[in-house]
Amino acid sequence: MSAIYNFCAGPAMLPTAVMHKAQKEFVDWQGHGVSVMEISHRSKDYMAVAAKAEQRLRELMAIPDNYHVLFMHGGGRGQFSAVASNLLGSHGRALYLVSGQWSKAAAEEAQKIAGHAQIDVVDICVEDDGIRHVELSPLSGAAEDYRYLHYCPNETVDGIEIFENIDCPWPVVADMSSNILSREIDVSRFGLIYAGAQKNIGPSGLAIVIVRQDLLSLPSLTQASILDYRLARDNDSMFNTPPTFAWYLAGEVFAWLQEHGGVSAMDLNNIHKAKLLYHCIDSHPFYRNNVAKENRSRMNVTFHLADESLNGEFLAQAEARGLLALKGHRIVGGMRASIYNAMPYEGVQALVNFMTEFAEQHA
Ligand SMILES: *Cc1c(COP(=O)(O)O)cnc(C)c1O
Repeated sequence: MSAIYNFCAGPAMLPTAVMHKAQKEFVDWQGHGVSVMEISHRSKDYMAVAAKAEQRLRELMAIPDNYHVLFMHGGGRGQFSAVASNLLGSHGRALYLVSGQWSKAAAEEAQKIAGHAQIDVVDICVEDDGIRHVELSPLSGAAEDYRYLHYCPNETVDGIEIFENIDCPWPVVADMSSNILSREIDVSRFGLIYAGAQKNIGPSGLAIVIVRQDLLSLPSLTQASILDYRLARDNDSMFNTPPTFAWYLAGEVFAWLQEHGGVSAMDLNNIHKAKLLYHCIDSHPFYRNNVAKENRSRMNVTFHLADESLNGEFLAQAEARGLLALKGHRIVGGMRASIYNAMPYEGVQALVNFMTEFAEQHA
């Protein structure tokens, strides 16, 4: 059988080597005769797995000592609530930048639980001649006293990525669910970073939170205990039973990243992969992408066929060649190829070969 390449946006493919290792130790972990998911989260062995995963993430992202790393439940959306509950305060204000579907959903969730607090929402996505880009300029001059600014540096559904740093006087909160560990960032520029795990880290359900210590000293909203950052911090993310298997697998992915050159190597590789695919899209009038070059996502490449009546045939032929899950999100339609860290260059090459042939067939 020829290689299968899975372009699913999430849950997404994990590194093949990690999957094989997990399979190998699935029922008999480190000679214990039981699975890592069958042992107590408070056992010495599991605590070591948990601590090692955190340490690896700290090394990979060069997380400064004045940041906590939390492993939480509830995926990305769980953090939409957690961020507002923990940081907003009963009469605080926060600014939400909207650049696509996920940042919009985060703002809506915050509004839902804000009570007497206030959520200001600014649309930063501009469409010019059908091409979308992000405009950060309205930020300068805003003099409000915000508890935090929230944005989503990579819009998974829309294929829009923000590479610029956000310049503002307030703590910046970033939803990095779909681009964490994909390129080098300076953690100290952020107040809080969170990510649902299933795009670039591991199995779904787990969320990673990296939060600057001082942000947890202000009064928060009343909230569910399992979303409470302070409880998570005080209990080493084990206030209740954490998603132990997901945490273990995340640790294995971090180890794989370290063995493969860390984030700087991923960064370069992801630039090459995205370049190859966008070049294919741009060089065939048969395909089009509607995001300005400076905001094109390196992780989620969206595109449409010139003749949308061929969508079904495109997907069927792709699948027959082992190129899976290319259908775009239902809200935006068209196609989407998610090419996270685990997607090898060869996978993108195989997709580009297919797209070139398909375009020539239908020219
Ligand atoms: C997938 C995704 C989410 C939602 O994650 P869930 O784990 O399904 O809640 C939130 N934000 C971004 C940017 C995502 O890509």
